[in-house]
Amino acid sequence: MKREDVFNFAAGPSAMPRSVLEKAAAELLNYRGTGMSVMEMSHRSAAFREIFDTAKASLRELLNVPDSHEILLLQGGATLQFAAIGMNLLAGGAADYAVTGRFSARAAEEAKKYGTVRIAADTSSTGHDRIPKQDELSLSPNAKYFYYCANNTIYGTEWHYDPETACPLVCDMSSDILTRPVDFSRFALVYAGAQKNMAPAGLTVVIVDRSLVGGELPCTPEIMSYKVMAETDSMLNTPPCWCIYMLSLMLDWVRENGGVAGMDERKRERAALLYDVLDSSRLYLPHARREDRSFMNVTFSTGKKELDAEFVAGAAQRGLLSVKGHKVTGGMRASLYNAMPLEGARKLADYMREFEAEHV
Ligand SMILES: *Cc1c(COP(=O)(O)O)cnc(C)c1O
Repeated sequence: MKREDVFNFAAGPSAMPRSVLEKAAAELLNYRGTGMSVMEMSHRSAAFREIFDTAKASLRELLNVPDSHEILLLQGGATLQFAAIGMNLLAGGAADYAVTGRFSARAAEEAKKYGTVRIAADTSSTGHDRIPKQDELSLSPNAKYFYYCANNTIYGTEWHYDPETACPLVCDMSSDILTRPVDFSRFALVYAGAQKNMAPAGLTVVIVDRSLVGGELPCTPEIMSYKVMAETDSMLNTPPCWCIYMLSLMLDWVRENGGVAGMDERKRERAALLYDVLDSSRLYLPHARREDRSFMNVTFSTGKKELDAEFVAGAAQRGLLSVKGHKVTGGMRASLYNAMPLEGARKLADYMREFEAEHV
């Protein structure tokens, strides 16, 4: 298959913009006259230091992260943060968790090992097809933080508001960071695995309020301590150098394409193309309720396993790849991250209409 003929709808790791990959390819063997690849460089070298500082500065600029918050570039994926949050921020106290999908359920389970987890909302009874409303959240008075997952990658739902709480917020933005403006002053911590909207797998971006760092449990490993990682500027040990380099290229691309506001605008256009088909369909059953559906992951099925499989196979024949749903939901899922061109969403929408015409 030729790259030109393919649109990759994978949920993560996921598509990167072609120009970003071309830039990386052009610099692969000899990074800007250093005579070596970024892959081969010491993380303490001046050349890598510049890459690292540029990536951090670009994140701060594009996401408008205030000086009150530290940016950490870590390893271990979003999954490691489930425990790190428990060790560093919960640390024997209590916190409220909204469970709106698999990742928030796992985060709550993991945090229980390090303190009291109260379930502020749980949407599992309807198959995580929705986001709780503000007045449904059961908030406890002494919570150290309110935890939620902004975009539920598997189920295709997304919080379209920041919860109002007395305590600060902690949020998993793995699948919608860099797609909308965020007021970080309300957040104790935001984290995101890079492999959805930012970079290859292996890098996790953590944005943490400096004033909340340092109260971790004594058993916290150094590598999971926000205090230690902030003090060492994420270089206690070797950072994920290549991923950080790719992140810096991706952030240049985001800037060239209108920044976060540009991403926000384009995600709406892309998602609308697919939701328009679902809204007028007699074949497809959307998984998420209309008011809570995600701009990033569009989830639907035909209600019939064999027909879903036929849809996925037919899509692949047209170069529309990885539209099979997650194993817990079945059906289809089209992930429309920052790197997905509008053209890809248009091709998939056309195919959905054609497939429907042949099967109703
Ligand atoms: C992908 C994803 C995760 C898991 O990320 P890993 O990097 O594999 O640990 C967690 N939360 C959300 C919202 C995700 O999309």
